[in-house]
Amino acid sequence: MNKISKLIYLDHAATTPVDPRVIKAMQPYWSEKFANPSALYTAGREAAAGVAESRSKIATILNCKPTEIIFTAGGTESNNLAIFGVAMAYQKKYSKPGHIITSPIEHHSILHTFDALKQLGWKVSFAPVDQEGFVNVAALKKLARKDTALISIMYANNEVGTIEPIEEIGKWVSGLNKTRLQKKIPRILFHTDACQAGGALSLDVQELKVDLLTLNGSKIYGPKQTGLLYIRSGVELEPLIHGGGQEKNLRSGTENVPGIIGLATALELVQKNLDKENKRLHDLQIYFIDRLSKKVKPIQNKFTINGPSISKTQKNRLANNINISFPGIEGESLMLYLDAKNIATATGSACATTSLDPSHVLIALGLKPIDAYSAIRLTMGHTTTKQALDYVIDVLVDVIPMLNSVVNNK
Ligand SMILES: *Cc1c(COP(=O)(O)O)cnc(C)c1O
Repeated sequence: MNKISKLIYLDHAATTPVDPRVIKAMQPYWSEKFANPSALYTAGREAAAGVAESRSKIATILNCKPTEIIFTAGGTESNNLAIFGVAMAYQKKYSKPGHIITSPIEHHSILHTFDALKQLGWKVSFAPVDQEGFVNVAALKKLARKDTALISIMYANNEVGTIEPIEEIGKWVSGLNKTRLQKKIPRILFHTDACQAGGALSLDVQELKVDLLTLNGSKIYGPKQTGLLYIRSGVELEPLIHGGGQEKNLRSGTENVPGIIGLATALELVQKNLDKENKRLHDLQIYFIDRLSKKVKPIQNKFTINGPSISKTQKNRLANNINISFPGIEGESLMLYLDAKNIATATGSACATTSLDPSHVLIALGLKPIDAYSAIRLTMGHTTTKQALDYVIDVLVDVIPMLNSVVNNK
């Protein structure tokens, strides 16, 4: 076995290391250009200029106006602002709670926000997903009601990499809204959580036809606790955080200037390199599965790929995502064994490792709890190489028979 002492990090869906170029771009904004961007003197205007430039860069990538971007402290906050913000604006206007739709495989920052609204009297519907994690659009269409205020469907799933048909849903919602307008029925707003898509997919909000879009820095080689919400002009939203009126009164508090610079720099870098990196990762993804079949099949013949199938022609699964169940083996034990060999992976979703429930995503895809418990997720990134994957497979070949016999002897 090759000796690799360096960490093999295969958990990029949980977070990414910060790109050194991002750190460099942020550097001047800590103690040189540190002034409050709201201040009217030169130093304040300098910080404000950095924020404005970042907003413009991002607007170019999203194909929107800079004024349609609100900076937040991450994906969770942007999702909360999108959902609660829309719901509270609706409730203010119509004096009663309405109806909202999502999918069962969303990130907890969506699902738990929906739960919170349910407790306030909102009605919640879930659009079903198939066994690969794709939202059933025909079934989704049937869920729309007169009082539907918002649909929130993620762009790409963090556990199994399924890329949802956002453009198709967006087209349908905007068509539906035209008829609703004629009938004087309030329009439905469409939000997408694009946290896993920032470095992998096009973010053109005109093509996607979304009204709201969430992005964060932590998944795209930018700083943690940075994020944004795209809000289409004309969309009414109530703020969650009240105060000095920054970010068009939608997100008060002194701006995280270095963080904003870091987020914009990171987004620009990943989007510039998107096609090349997708191709490289897709090749690695196929390489890994092929090699796994050759080396591991003889000793453990029934591992399964969770999520959309992985093949050369596959276009609707994130290129960096590999999610596998090894029947009879506990994903958690495997993950800990790999950690002892300096390989960082995840079981189910990282955010759920404090709970003992099986992954809600894998369960929604129809896996039995025992198969969901046996899942392991490898998410590749900039530093992932063929050699590193070879090492991972060597370790798997060693460990799987061991863990298997532990289970069989129980
Ligand atoms: C990571 C992630 C979030 C949460 O983002 P934070 O910046 O950690 O708050 C939300 N949605 C998805 C799909 C994610 O992957």
